[in-house]
Amino acid sequence: MERGFEKASSDSLPAVDLDMITAFFATNSKFLSTEIQNVKIRASKTDYGDKAIGYVQLKRDGNICIVNARIAPEHKIHSKQYKVSAVINETEEDVISCECIDCAAAEGGCKHAVAFLMWLHRRSEEVEVTSTTCYWKKPALAEVGQSTKKYPIFGAIPDGISEDYCVEVKYPSKEKTVSSYVKDGQIITKYYMQIQMQMYFAHKMKGLFCVAAPVFETTKVVDIYNIKIDKEKCEEYFNSAENYWIDLICPLFRNM
Ligand SMILES: [Zn+2]
Repeated sequence: MERGFEKASSDSLPAVDLDMITAFFATNSKFLSTEIQNVKIRASKTDYGDKAIGYVQLKRDGNICIVNARIAPEHKIHSKQYKVSAVINETEEDVISCECIDCAAAEGGCKHAVAFLMWLHRRSEEVEVTSTTCYWKKPALAEVGQSTKKYPIFGAIPDGISEDYCVEVKYPSKEKTVSSYVKDGQIITKYYMQIQMQMYFAHKMKGLFCVAAPVFETTKVVDIYNIKIDKEKCEEYFNSAENYWIDLICPLFRNM
């Protein structure tokens, strides 16, 4: 925690009502950039703000309340969290500033700052309950959660599954096609990642990658490769595939 700050909780946060938000955005030109115009679309990702914000701390000095927090990025689960800071005059009911310290290019006027201000607003609107909630905690988005929740856009279906294994079966029709699955005793990356993905989502530590001989019907020969889960490699691929989707595919849908 920073010097002079205390952990923020539901009974210590400053009130931020809709009029304060409207006035703030109407008078801050840095929130009119193109990046912010995209926020509307991005914010559609379910309750991003509530999951992303954590380590909320605050400091009061007369009428002024400074609220600082960390916000986890939307997509890169493992990268660093951004630091956001809001300054509120509680007597004048005025948002003096709300900035993201880490988005220098946007001069602090980025979607993280918007998400934080909206988070403060939602907390203000919550019905008072008898128990208080402490907001000095790790953002939920930064927790390594259930794999399917963490990567909602991916899916993988194995050909077979047992208590311990995922099974993927390839059946090339010609000898020549075998090399598109396995070359020099190594499974081709595309298929190696296919079975890794199946294991990751099915929570299996082991996999059997099976390549049936083109003459399997007469010989019954199947080459079986034992695979061990490599979670780090999976996440590395998932993150770059997800970024590819967000950067290159999503914009095409927006323009439809
Ligand atoms: Zn930012």
